[in-house]
Amino acid sequence: MTHTHSIAIIGAGLAGISAGTALAAEGQLVTLFDKSRGSGGRMSSKRTEFGDLDMGAQYFTARDSHFRHELRDWLDKGWVSEWDPAMYSYDDQGLHSSSDDLQRFVGNPRMTGLSRELLAGLNLVSQTHISRLRQDDQSGWLLIDDQDQVHGPFERVIVATPAPQAIPLLEQAPQLAHTVSQVQMDPGWTLAVAFHTPLNTPVEACFVRAGPLDWISRNSSKPGRSTQDSWVLQSTPEWALAHLETDKSEVSRLMLAAFNQIIGGPIPEPAFLHVHRWLYARPTEPCQWGALAAPEKGLYVCGDWCLGGRIENAWLSGQQAARTLMDKR
Ligand SMILES: Cc1cc2nc3c(=O)[nH]c(=O)nc-3n(C[C@H](O)[C@H](O)[C@H](O)COP(=O)(O)OP(=O)(O)OC[C@H]3O[C@@H](n4cnc5c(N)ncnc54)[C@H](O)[C@@H]3O)c2cc1C
Repeated sequence: MTHTHSIAIIGAGLAGISAGTALAAEGQLVTLFDKSRGSGGRMSSKRTEFGDLDMGAQYFTARDSHFRHELRDWLDKGWVSEWDPAMYSYDDQGLHSSSDDLQRFVGNPRMTGLSRELLAGLNLVSQTHISRLRQDDQSGWLLIDDQDQVHGPFERVIVATPAPQAIPLLEQAPQLAHTVSQVQMDPGWTLAVAFHTPLNTPVEACFVRAGPLDWISRNSSKPGRSTQDSWVLQSTPEWALAHLETDKSEVSRLMLAAFNQIIGGPIPEPAFLHVHRWLYARPTEPCQWGALAAPEKGLYVCGDWCLGGRIENAWLSGQQAARTLMDKR
């Protein structure tokens, strides 16, 4: 047993971090666990010689008043910046300039810059894949990782992973596991690509409505990023599903060909390519749960999928889990 803190949070994406910061602000002892090396989950960035490339969430919007209030603080601290790209859309008729004037925000100097700042002062146990939970009547919850190491005991546990990854952790709350098993999440492919010579196009962001891609962004147009010309392309969920087991080099080739067509190539040979498959990119349907709980067991569940697949919803869901937990103490 390695820790004796009172609340364990499994998953250090924005939902888990949001719950963790809210609980820490209430004086609770919180320990976050994540299977990855860093934090941020699907708000991930890859460090490369062409700068930090945002491979997951590209930006976030802020509609909820509580989230907007929190955002003001992040802006003041310089953790996030507004990103106002030259927006385009692409459909069967071709490429058009877009009048979309939604306010968009990005982490500084990469999307994970935000999670790193929020986590400062919280206890994160990284590279630890929690495989199951065991509730001991005497001591509380024990977390068992995939190396059979036991962590705990903890009085309360918050599971803040994508829905399919939460199910094995909810064995001792079958009702909760059943509810979570109803949630479907879509896959996605992301391709990051960089060029020695900047592409000759005014496009900085584009919603795509035809072919394999559904989003293109010029990563280097975001504030605080390297000026080396870099791009992030994201596939539609349908295309990802049809190419789930396709070789990465073939996925790159097909996504680049679609990019070439949209931008009106020929694009030069990329100086850098990196492709990533997301098995659980976003929930298929939004829902209105906020967060889920089996309070009598001291078990809580949150994540973007409890509201809808956006950064803002992940944060709101984490806040809701923390509130529910505090109400039941
Ligand atoms: C390609 C892509 C593009 C996107 N674009 C946008 C966008 O532009 N704007 C927007 O608002 N949203 C976007 N999203 C959605 C956004 O990224 C998510 O809504 C949000 O990041 C989800 O946060 P979360 O904390 O709920 O989950 P996650 O970020 O998935 O965090 C869950 C964490 O749990 C960890 N974990 C899982 N299982 C275990 C386990 N057993 N043990 C330990 N750790 C575990 C994972 O490693 C991960 O760090 C995008 C998502 C993807 C994939």
